[in-house]
Amino acid sequence: MRWLRTHAVEAKGLSDVIIDCPVCGPRHLAEFSYGGEADRAPVDLANTDREAWEAHVFARRNPRGAHEEYWPHSGGCRSWLQVRRDVTDHGIESVRLIGGFAAAHPGRKS
Ligand SMILES: [Zn+2]
Repeated sequence: MRWLRTHAVEAKGLSDVIIDCPVCGPRHLAEFSYGGEADRAPVDLANTDREAWEAHVFARRNPRGAHEEYWPHSGGCRSWLQVRRDVTDHGIESVRLIGGFAAAHPGRKS
């Protein structure tokens, strides 16, 4: 029962999260997909070391507090967003467009 209560509280916290997509406006978190940590060093594509790739793909730092993440708007405009989110309270500190849409629409906040 304790497990259910704990997860219900966490789920409630996430159900309140709104991401202000620069293209679509404020949307519920359910419209987005988690795209991974955005504040990691880019991988060297020429590196063929298996352990280095496993660490890059599967290992997560899981820091406490605010950090940068990718959140593609998969249920909306399909733009990739870089979001600064505090994982302790799910507070969204900033949102910006990245990738092709941002380049094609320089007037959008990015
Ligand atoms: Zn959008």
